[in-house]
Amino acid sequence: QAKEQGRGIFRYYDVRLTERARERLFLESELRDALAREELIVHYQPQLALADDRLIGAEALLRWRHREHGLIPPDKFISIAEDSGLIVAIGEWVLRSACRQAKQWLDAGHDFQRMAVNLSGVQIERSDILATVTQVLADTGLPPKHLELEITETYIMQQAQLNVRIMGDLRALGVTLAIDDFGTGQSSLGYLKRLPVDKLKIDRSFVMDIPQDSNDMAITRAIIALGHNLHLTVLAEGIETAEQAAFLKELGCDEAQGYYYGRPVDAESYLKLLKESARPRRSPT
Ligand code: C2E
Ligand code: MG
Ligand code: MG
Ligand code: MG
Repeated sequence: QAKEQGRGIFRYYDVRLTERARERLFLESELRDALAREELIVHYQPQLALADDRLIGAEALLRWRHREHGLIPPDKFISIAEDSGLIVAIGEWVLRSACRQAKQWLDAGHDFQRMAVNLSGVQIERSDILATVTQVLADTGLPPKHLELEITETYIMQQAQLNVRIMGDLRALGVTLAIDDFGTGQSSLGYLKRLPVDKLKIDRSFVMDIPQDSNDMAITRAIIALGHNLHLTVLAEGIETAEQAAFLKELGCDEAQGYYYGRPVDAESYLKLLKESARPRRSPT
């Protein structure tokens, strides 16, 4: 009896694993054609200066609009793109699209300071990222100071020594570098001091339970102090409420990103935000 049951349980997991593996295989083969089929799109999420709620730039976020399965979120396919190496081509496409878009907004006379683009560790390992970024900047004509590259803390710390060198080379191009999802990747403070970066992005997980979770508030406060002591800009991700915005502003956090300020939107909608933010505001009386 027990044996039978055990076998049943084993088979149950077996089937589920197979299903998951099959889904990944399916998505991988679909992803191979997604670029050619023009199913990939870039959305742009506003980033603001906390002191005066001024729009300062955008983070480029990849979307996959599958012709049959609809919108597939990055959490579902980025890891597949990484495992298969497809992220190299896809990542370059995102970088190129985002830089081209930023250049277009600048040429149209908008006050657009910065386009932030996510880099996967796999792009750094499996391609000549320095050559790619150099080429994309040259092709699109975007001045490097308007490009920011985001690399996750977890990835940086996996191979800290090597990454310090690559990040230094990237930064020498004139682009800025941000550590993404900061607080989740167990940085050694020794390395943090030596990392050639400009910005810390506080991970959303610390922001989302403010003001209910006093530990998260303490951690957030500590990250902001740490960043400022190292002369880095600090951005808080995932701000969803006015209370969170007020708390972070009070702590002197420099920049903000989150649904409270705006969700990721297509280029057309982002352009509307740019136009609105350019409108002269009523001066305080
Ligand atoms: P990330 O780089 O940390 O991007 C921020 C994520 O948080 C985005 O999710 C964004 O939509 C979401 N977010 C922003 N504000 C809020 C908020 O107030 N509340 C909540 N609940 N979420 C918020 P998204 O677009 O689903 O992307 C997830 C992750 O996928 C990204 O995390 C990034 O790691 C990866 N990703 C997205 N696009 C690219 C890309 O072009 N290249 C690479 N390598 N990774 C990408
Ligand atoms: Mg990011
Ligand atoms: Mg992040
Ligand atoms: Mg994240």
